[in-house]
Amino acid sequence: MDHGETAGIALEAELREAVRLQQFELHYQPQVRIANREVVGMEALIRWAHPTRGLLLPAAFIPAAERNGLIVPIAEWVLRTACAQTRAWHQAGLPTLTVAVNLSALQFRQTGFVKLVSGILKSTGLDPCFLDLEVTKSLVMGAPETMMARFNELRELGIVLSIDDFGTGYANFGHFMNFPLDQLKIDPAFVHGLPASVESAAIARAIVSMGSSLGVRVMAVGVENRHQADFLRSIWCEYAQGYYYCMPLPAGEFQAWARNAAGDADADARETDREFMLAA
Ligand code: C2E
Ligand code: MG
Repeated sequence: MDHGETAGIALEAELREAVRLQQFELHYQPQVRIANREVVGMEALIRWAHPTRGLLLPAAFIPAAERNGLIVPIAEWVLRTACAQTRAWHQAGLPTLTVAVNLSALQFRQTGFVKLVSGILKSTGLDPCFLDLEVTKSLVMGAPETMMARFNELRELGIVLSIDDFGTGYANFGHFMNFPLDQLKIDPAFVHGLPASVESAAIARAIVSMGSSLGVRVMAVGVENRHQADFLRSIWCEYAQGYYYCMPLPAGEFQAWARNAAGDADADARETDREFMLAA
């Protein structure tokens, strides 16, 4: 057995323990309407509160969990927690928030997945239109008919479906055209180069124009500065998420941030009304 295999087995044992002891937490990153910074939702991002290594990012354990199958119970916990938290925020007066959850490929392929999702929505009381499932390119591109039927069932439940990390590489365009889609999320790799990179700018423009011809929303991910935000706004990209607006936050901090932001948006709206009245 080589070193890599030994490390893999050790990680698997630790992950199993983490599932049993519920050592995971969700952080939430705001998603905003670029024009007025109104908060429209948040992406739920998993962290592992490791007993000795501190808070671990998904890259440190999600790929392993997808390989050894532990992603199935982990992903169920993520869905349940994200839906319950969002419902609680709605009840606490933050009614317009939609929660985006990254879909695990392995979980999606389990029979009974649609039933699981509808059961979670029922038990948490969250209206399906406030759940946004983010699908990866490989799931869309590799989806046989049975999987496409599953996406359609999710859509029929009223759930929002997004394609994450959208960019180049959609060779099989036909597949994607049949997909019951609500939103495209521009891959941070292209947002990063904006506005200077001619290639990134061309790709961002192409995605926005594709979104408008398909009648779907477009959200840029990984927006880090005002230049990127201004450029995105100038090409009519409507939504964004990134450090420029806010880092992913633990639930309590997110709630405080969202309340504050809602207050700011109200103040902006009042200011606009006032200007309008003064001008009239
Ligand atoms: P993703 O879905 O593309 O999520 C966005 C990632 O970009 C997050 O990393 C977020 O923290 C990071 N990010 C946000 N804004 C910025 C920015 O302005 N600049 C930069 N450089 N990065 C930014 P994170 O939390 O490390 O998550 C990484 C990936 O792990 C996610 O990528 C997603 O694919 C996966 N993931 C996260 N949570 C879950 C989960 O609950 N289930 C599954 N299956 N996968 C998850
Ligand atoms: Mg995502």
